[in-house]
Amino acid sequence: MPIAMYPGSFDPVTRGHLDIIKRSSRMFDKVIVAVLVNSAKKPLFTVEERVAMLRECCKDIPNVEVDSFNGLTVSFAKQKHATVMVRGLRAVTDFENEIQLAHTNFAMAPGIETVFLATAIKWSYLSSTIVREAAHYGQDVSKFVPANVETALIAKREAGEL
Ligand code: ADP
Repeated sequence: MPIAMYPGSFDPVTRGHLDIIKRSSRMFDKVIVAVLVNSAKKPLFTVEERVAMLRECCKDIPNVEVDSFNGLTVSFAKQKHATVMVRGLRAVTDFENEIQLAHTNFAMAPGIETVFLATAIKWSYLSSTIVREAAHYGQDVSKFVPANVETALIAKREAGEL
């Protein structure tokens, strides 16, 4: 079975992302969750914080590794010998951007296939942006994120950074 890479911003990781990680860990020998450093968006959490939260969430899944990268996702995939790129598709609104990314990645690295997993219905409305916004207004986000992420969001809010 090939090695898969699941790239993203994960700012922060949500229960939707974790569902994709768990499901892909059953499909591949190894899944490398790759946290993007040079995202165009200014992240709430530093890359070190995002990696640490993901590692805590995935500590019980032995074939999941969490790492960060700078630059092109396909270059990092090649470096890690990953031949599959996993992406989650929530709704049709994700499709346009995701298909463009998949085609671009294929053009740059034809040896790497993108696999789309349909998001679990119960998380199909969920995004990191929505979670940050709800936490900003002091809402209970425990339904959307694991406990360690909730604690980190509360700390950011109390520090006035959210
Ligand atoms: P990016 O900034 O690259 O879109 P994200 O961290 O927002 O990074 O998302 C990474 C991947 O996870 C993308 O494939 C995205 O479609 C998917 N994803 C985002 N939210 C969810 C969710 N609620 N359920 C399943 N997959 C999701």
